[in-house]
Formats: sequence, C-alpha cells, structure tokens
Amino acid sequence: MTATGDVWVVAERVRGKLIAPVFELMTLGRTLLAHTGGRLHVAILGAGLQESARELLARGADCVCIADDPAIAEYEPESWLAVLENMTREAPPAAILVPHTNPGTDLAPRLAFRLGAAVATGCIDVAYDDNRLRATRTCYGGNAHEVVNFRTASVVATVRAGIFEPAASTSGREGETIATTVDFAALARRTTVVTRERNASDTIRLEDAHVVIAGGRGLAGPEGFALLEQLARELNGAVGASRVPCDIGWCPHSMQIGLTGKTVAPALYVAVGISGAGQHMAGCARARTIVAINTDPDAAIYKDAHLGIVADYRQVIPVLIEAIRRIRSAAAPSKP
Ligand code: FAD
Repeated sequence: MTATGDVWVVAERVRGKLIAPVFELMTLGRTLLAHTGGRLHVAILGAGLQESARELLARGADCVCIADDPAIAEYEPESWLAVLENMTREAPPAAILVPHTNPGTDLAPRLAFRLGAAVATGCIDVAYDDNRLRATRTCYGGNAHEVVNFRTASVVATVRAGIFEPAASTSGREGETIATTVDFAALARRTTVVTRERNASDTIRLEDAHVVIAGGRGLAGPEGFALLEQLARELNGAVGASRVPCDIGWCPHSMQIGLTGKTVAPALYVAVGISGAGQHMAGCARARTIVAINTDPDAAIYKDAHLGIVADYRQVIPVLIEAIRRIRSAAAPSKP
C-alpha cells in the first residue's frame, strides 16, 4: 500500500464544542505536512456540525470531511469506524492523528486494523526523521522515552493533550468541505446502546482549563475535594487528582492526571497533598506555573514546583479562597 502525503486529524466534540486537543493536533499535522507536502484533512462526525466545520477551516484545515447525521451523533465505535474507513480508504493518509481521549484510544487501534496501518497510542510526539515517521512516547513509568518506527505506509497515532500549541484561528479563512454520503441509518451495528449517562458537571473540562487544582492522597478523604472545588470555582478552573484518590474512590477516574491519566498544560497547576511521583508529573509537567501545597518539606513535588507552601492544605486553601474573594471585591467597580 502506498500512502498519500496527506495528514488527517479526527475531531472530537464535547457538548457540541470542539475540544482543544483537536486544534493541537492540527498544529502537529501542519509540521508533518511541511515534510510530505500534502493537505490537512479533518474528519468530523456527529450531528449539527456546521459551526464546528467553519471553525476547523478557520484554524487551518485544507479540507473538512463531514459526516453529519443524528444516527451518529454520539461516539459509537462501529458506525464511526465504518464512516472513517469510508473517508480514508481510497487515498490512505501518511498519518491519522487522534486525540488521546477515551473515544480516541478506543477508535485508533480499530481504525488502524481496518486500514492495515500501524498504530501508536499515547504519543508525546510524531515527527519525520530521515524520511521516516517516528512516534515518541513515555515508558518505564514515565522515566524514559521510547521512539517507535513504523513499517507501514500509513500510521494512526493518538497524541496526548497539552503538548502542541493549538492552531490559531484566522477569521474568514476558507477551505474545502466534503459531506460524506454514507447511508448512516443502514450502518451495520452489532451493539445496541441501551442507555447513556453523562456526568452532570457545570465545571470546565480538565484538558481545557487554564487553572487546575489537583488533590492527592494527602487530602485524606473525599471532603478535601469539596474544598478544592471551591478554590477551582473562584479561579474559574477545574479539579483533577493523582491516581491514589481515584483508585480509592474519593473521585472518578476521569479526574486522574498522569502517565495513565490525562495530560494537562494549564497556566496554573496547584498540587495539593500530592508527593510528586514521576508518573503524576508526566501529566502536568507542561503547566506554566506549578504551586505545591504539602506538609512534607522533602516531598519530591518541590523539585518541580515553582512555588511551594509547606503546610496542611486545610489551613491554606480556606485562606486562599478568602484572599481571592477579598481581592476580587476590592477590584469590582463600586455601585453608585
Ligand atoms: P502520596 O505519594 O501518598 O503523597 C501524598 C502526599 O500528601 C505526601 O507527600 C504527603 O506529605 C502529603 N500530605 C499528607 N497530608 C497532607 C496535608 N494535610 N496537607 C498537605 N499535604 C499533605 N499516579 C498518578 O498520579 N497518575 C498516574 O497517571 C499514575 N500512573 C501510574 C502508572 C504506573 C505504571 C505506576 C507504577 C504508577 C502510577 N501512578 C500514577 C502512581 C504514582 O507512582 C504515585 O503512587 C501516586 O502519584 C502517588 O499519589 P499521591 O501523590 O496522591 O500520594
């Protein structure tokens, strides 16, 4: 099989909005195209996609391939795979970049198998080196990097969030859009979705948040997370966690940050009661400013933190919340 020089990005939306990692993959896609000279395609599946398609063009897609139908509104592997295979089989791209999210990691290996392509998941980089596409990912608990070479012409890679700058938007930029002509209702499915449950959350998604307040075992229970929620709300941020509280059940696994959790790159990361194990830091090392709150002055987190507060979080967080409220009310314009 020979591949074209094109690069595809598979878009993902949450609550009708494109997620930031899609724009990051568009940046990565552009760097690969500098080598291959092909075009940047973005595949978007779901229902009611016109606004998202315009945004993808504005952010630099050369061609947006749209599969817009209520029958595929929510991610469902069998029908999404059939549509993506239909989109890409005729002219196999050099690379298909997929966000390293739950749907993305489910989809990528299946898509690679269908296309006879290689797959690498959890990549932190995908680049050409000496005319060969290579993927880099962490291994040995985050303590080393492995570089993966491929024997196939086409490669599918899931890439972690927060590594590349999101592609910027240029208003009025235009490009090609192609509407897929699949009979969506007739797509063969062996599974039936009985029910869907969505976590009721009015907070910002972890991966999109500019401020992340993360809690660890040092919180000593789920009540600690309620306090972190308060601080996050004051800063318009999101709450994350180390693996321990997720494993114990103080918070859901969707909040886990680290090697086997999510990767975040906020402007401010506040690590509360987290020791700073390498596997945790693998998920937050790209934060611009890391603040640690820990009772142990020798905790490893202080090696990575830009600012440290050696204290019990129960004493520090309420004071921080109070201070933020005071500053905000002093800055608010006084009523006549
Ligand atoms: P601990 O290491 O127990 O640290 C708790 C900290 O809280 C201590 O430093 C303590 O001084 C402090 N503390 C205690 N009381 C207070 C208080 N009142 N106020 C303030 N501070 C206090 N971990 C992840 O987080 N994410 C991952 O994705 C991940 N993946 C892994 C993958 C593999 C293959 C392996 C082997 C491990 C992985 N881990 C991961 C686990 C990781 O190695 C650590 O065990 C884990 O991060 C420790 O969590 P912690 O910092 O919350 O707990």
